[in-house]
Amino acid sequence: MPLKLRLRRSSKDRPPGGGEGRGSDSRAGGSRYAKSSRKATSASSGGRRLEIQIHPGNIRRRVRYLFFTRRQLVTLAALVLLWLSFVVAGFSLAPSVVRGFLARNEYRALVAERELSGERLRALVSRLEGLEGRSEELRLQVDKIILAYGLTSDESIGQGGFPTPPRPVPQTVYANVIQQGNDLDARVSGELGAIATFLEEVRAFEAANRERARTTPSASPLTSDRFVLTSPFGNRRSPFTKNLDFHAGIDFAAPVGTPVHAPADAVVVFAGRYPLRRSVGWWRYGNLVVLAHGDDFRTLFGHCNEIKVQRGQRVRQGDVIATVGNTGWSTASHLHYEVRRRDDERKFVPVDPRIYILDRHWRDEERLLVRARTAPALANFEPLPDLFTR
Ligand SMILES: [Zn+2]
Repeated sequence: MPLKLRLRRSSKDRPPGGGEGRGSDSRAGGSRYAKSSRKATSASSGGRRLEIQIHPGNIRRRVRYLFFTRRQLVTLAALVLLWLSFVVAGFSLAPSVVRGFLARNEYRALVAERELSGERLRALVSRLEGLEGRSEELRLQVDKIILAYGLTSDESIGQGGFPTPPRPVPQTVYANVIQQGNDLDARVSGELGAIATFLEEVRAFEAANRERARTTPSASPLTSDRFVLTSPFGNRRSPFTKNLDFHAGIDFAAPVGTPVHAPADAVVVFAGRYPLRRSVGWWRYGNLVVLAHGDDFRTLFGHCNEIKVQRGQRVRQGDVIATVGNTGWSTASHLHYEVRRRDDERKFVPVDPRIYILDRHWRDEERLLVRARTAPALANFEPLPDLFTR
């Protein structure tokens, strides 16, 4: 709707009133630009007044008039100025507000991103921890091989390895995690380096001592996962006499009929039941198989159900020599597995068979190895009869 501004002097004969008036000419069909006939007056000023005509687009509607006196105009201008000054003040403050708002959003995004990176970092560190556990297992495994072969046994390989220079840690909130990761990395690298060195040594030993490598008991006599170690090597309370006695082997509980395998290449030196009249001790083992692994080792398999080999027979590692049973002095189906190693006095001394089961990992392996190295020489064991040592 068009606006018409007109400044005019007021005259006295017009009715007083400010603000708004109503035209009547438009109703008479006059043009939108028709002269306004009504004139506003100012009370006594006689000064100029501003008249604003508002012509609606629809010519049937009345034209509206707005009249402003000088004072009203001044007041209006003051109000507009005041409003403008508020707007200007607002804008001058706005940049910092806007900047603050943007910065806050950016900050939140950065925090989220940093948390994500932190999570990734922690996941990496935990994978590194897994690797460390694995390398620890490998180290123990190699340690067992070294012990089984009787290599430089007093040197545990834990301390070996290649020194890695410490890496700089960046200054971040994740400095701790990064430090932890670097430490782990250094440890794992060192341990793997040591393992590689010793494996090289073991390989060299095996190449130079093929017979020894072939005949050193190293495989588990039971290959299925259906067996449980029920009685460890060493002193224990006898299930029969309830007295403390020395257990020269380990007992694996397993179902009757579970195949028993040769732990290394060997010759069968005994297969059957040991005559009671010659020894109650050996008779107790029920159906017994004794293998001779070269000059240095004898392995014994007690309480068997079926014996699958004969005296004098050569067996290869992994061959089935018997099945698990419940013969002799036995409360339940189990295999009594014994490993004897010839010592400096050429006596066959019982050793913890778990050290000679290299394809299994035991929970207390570390302790097992320490004990094997530091335990005093055994004295209270039953010597092997001549029949087994030939
Ligand atoms: Zn036993």
